[in-house]
Amino acid sequence: MFVKSLVLAVGCSALMFGCAGQPDETQEIVDNLAEAGFPADDIMVVDGKVYVGRDAEVSLAASREMLARDHSTEEQYHTTNLISSAVTKICINGSTFTGNFSTALDLAIQNYDELPLSFAMARTPSTGCSFTINAVIQPGVVGGSAGFPSGGLPYGTINIGGGLSSYSVDVIEHVITHEIGHTIGLRHTDYYNRSISCGSGGNEGDAGVGAIHIPGTPTTATVGGSLMNSCFRSVETGEFTSGDLSALTYLYAALPPRPDKGPWYNPARSGNGLDIQHLASDQIHVTWYTYTAAGVPIWYQAYLVAEAGEWRGDLLQTSWTGSSATFSVVGTLRITYSSGLWRFYWKLGSLSGNEPIQFLAFGGGSTVMNLNGLWYNGAEPGWGGSFNTQGNTHVLNLTVYQGSNPVWLQGVVNSASTSLVFPMTYVTGTNLCPGCTGPTSTSGTAAGTFTVNGSAGTPGGMAASSAVSFPGGTWNRPSFTLNRLTGP
Ligand SMILES: [Zn+2]
Repeated sequence: MFVKSLVLAVGCSALMFGCAGQPDETQEIVDNLAEAGFPADDIMVVDGKVYVGRDAEVSLAASREMLARDHSTEEQYHTTNLISSAVTKICINGSTFTGNFSTALDLAIQNYDELPLSFAMARTPSTGCSFTINAVIQPGVVGGSAGFPSGGLPYGTINIGGGLSSYSVDVIEHVITHEIGHTIGLRHTDYYNRSISCGSGGNEGDAGVGAIHIPGTPTTATVGGSLMNSCFRSVETGEFTSGDLSALTYLYAALPPRPDKGPWYNPARSGNGLDIQHLASDQIHVTWYTYTAAGVPIWYQAYLVAEAGEWRGDLLQTSWTGSSATFSVVGTLRITYSSGLWRFYWKLGSLSGNEPIQFLAFGGGSTVMNLNGLWYNGAEPGWGGSFNTQGNTHVLNLTVYQGSNPVWLQGVVNSASTSLVFPMTYVTGTNLCPGCTGPTSTSGTAAGTFTVNGSAGTPGGMAASSAVSFPGGTWNRPSFTLNRLTGP
């Protein structure tokens, strides 16, 4: 990036350290950029490379593409390539930085490191660096330059102009933070119209690296509105704007830890709870076992995805048609983790609430048969159960229907056998429904049996039979195969 007032000549100039190499190609790039509408002072040739947007290197192919492109959108942008989640710590080697440049480099690194991003940032020497960017002082240049990510890694160099020595530490911090922004994939916020921050200039175009809008960022670039604007002012603070923070959060927010699979509950409202199963590193399945306002057991489910700071997804209610199930979205579910505490947020129709949750440990020791996971009848999808095995204690929450309404029943067996007969209980709850308050209690009624014949280890399928009856319904299935859906 370059200061607004700086005007550069195109061609062999003091800023052009060498025309050698591929002069014809360089000239074509410059010609293409001029034809694409870039004023001469937006194009710079340094060390045989052509820069547009003053600090983004342009290849010949990219310059050719610009001639055929039309861009008219106005938001904050990132490149097609980003750094991968395997990069957990970016280090910056600024060993030649002294005085204000060294101070500014420390401040720029701090700008990133203090954010809850998927990577930390530190100055070398440091331990555990996933990647190291070399910071280089470029004599005579008033601004900086860098490149964009490739192969999941940041660009390896930021060039910081020695001519910035006449500016404040804050301005130098701004330029360094800006160039680091490019190395992790941020494009200029006003890339579509550089005159917003530079006073003159055109559209940088795709530049061969993509210009993808970042959701949640402002819809128009403004002077001083982003640290990633093309040109800087002498009054820059060196700090991210709210739009910059939204962009970084969207691209690189640290994902929340994944809650352990198994039963979760709020001890203060025991009697209802969640069953959590792992589907992927960033996706979990949640079954919520709770009650209606009348105290009747009801279950909901949700597929939650890891997003910035929380797990989030729609809350689904299932209905039974008599032979299959249909889903409808009835709310949202979120799970957060902060300072060692998990919290569960729900919205259900017009109601909402939240409560602390913790893992429910109910057994221990060695396990003969591990049934942990979701199971279903492959011949009749739409109902099933979640099993939790701890030691040789097995808990089954059966998710079936009372007419068309979802209802759950619970059975517990403590046995080292691989053939288990669960005595099922129909549980009603007082003041345990979502949004209910007051003293809570539960009441259980015997509701028949559910039998499985598995095998030692972690069976993938089991012969099963259900002889279950409860107020308002039955769930009798004399013989079927129960198939594992998740886990163990
Ligand atoms: Zn830039």
